[in-house]
Amino acid sequence: MPAARRRHARLVEVVRSRWLTPSVRRVVVGGPALAGLEPSPYADAYVTLVFVPPEVPRPLPRVDGGPWVDLDAVRDASPRDLGPRLRSLTVRHLDPSALELTLDVVVHGTAGLAGPWALSATPGDELLLLGPGGGYRPDPQASRHLLAADASALPAVGVALSRLPRHAVGDAVLEVPGPEDEVALDPPPAVRVHWVHQGGRRPGDRLVEAVTALPWAGDDVHAFVHGEAAAVRRLRHYLRVERGLGLKRLSVSGYWRLGVDEEGRRAGRRDRDAAIEESERSRSVTRPRPAPARPARGRGDRAAAAGAAPSSGSR
Ligand SMILES: Cc1cc2nc3c(=O)[nH]c(=O)nc-3n(C[C@H](O)[C@H](O)[C@H](O)COP(=O)(O)OP(=O)(O)OC[C@H]3O[C@@H](n4cnc5c(N)ncnc54)[C@H](O)[C@@H]3O)c2cc1C
Repeated sequence: MPAARRRHARLVEVVRSRWLTPSVRRVVVGGPALAGLEPSPYADAYVTLVFVPPEVPRPLPRVDGGPWVDLDAVRDASPRDLGPRLRSLTVRHLDPSALELTLDVVVHGTAGLAGPWALSATPGDELLLLGPGGGYRPDPQASRHLLAADASALPAVGVALSRLPRHAVGDAVLEVPGPEDEVALDPPPAVRVHWVHQGGRRPGDRLVEAVTALPWAGDDVHAFVHGEAAAVRRLRHYLRVERGLGLKRLSVSGYWRLGVDEEGRRAGRRDRDAAIEESERSRSVTRPRPAPARPARGRGDRAAAAGAAPSSGSR
């Protein structure tokens, strides 16, 4: 029987970091382990940071002395029930010649791993990366685009807007804490960017209000809806059930869940997704489909591309 394939992670270092906005830290990581990485065809390409428990002896076990770490050996050396923990972050920019990758990370307080990591990221800090994975490329033929996101998905929207054809038409609705958290974007002239400010409201409330207030302009919409899970779920319901948007025209993902850490968010996600899909199937309005479905990558493709990174669909 062939031996099971061992899993490896890239060992990279923080190169530099700075505040992009009052709530987002831009962290550039790099190193020889990024050799061979090419810019992804997916606008939402992401890597998964692997946080290794401090109990695991350092230096971490390398693969053939190179810049990759044997993740199975790390798992074996981890305390029982306390293995490495994973957090996904979008690739805002990849510079293959400099072997550098840029991540924009929401700093949301002292809870969790990724936010505090970004806050204290210092040149020379080592980190492990899995991936990249990804699943959304804006359809250049779509008659209209809709992008709805909070700050956690702003990196993906930034990439998507810069890749849309110049003739593209649509709306990007973006929720950030306040006016000082808006960032410069490069949308095509006919794609309107609507900033909404969370203010004192629950994360995602203003986003949902702004998206549902937009006039609906036809069926051949390609939509990208990513951010806080409960808000994403409400928008998914709106687009699927009230607007009859087919799943293949919708990239939807709860990137984080209010009051729940990443481990909690992942737990039971599959059951939740199945229940949502079933309820939408029974309630969805039937509308004529304007064109045959264009190729869309499915849940399995994306998960496979990302190694241990999360699946796509309604996350
Ligand atoms: C494919 C993918 C790509 C992603 N890309 C990015 C990205 O580029 N930049 C980015 O910042 N995030 C991104 N996220 C979201 C990020 O992975 C989550 O926010 C993650 O939970 C952060 O981990 P943490 O360790 O900081 O907090 P956790 O340990 O997961 O959570 C601790 C607490 O913080 C809260 N929390 C978590 N995230 C946020 C937030 N954004 N705002 C307010 N409160 C929060 C939780 O509700 C919880 O109460 C992405 C997620 C996915 C699935």
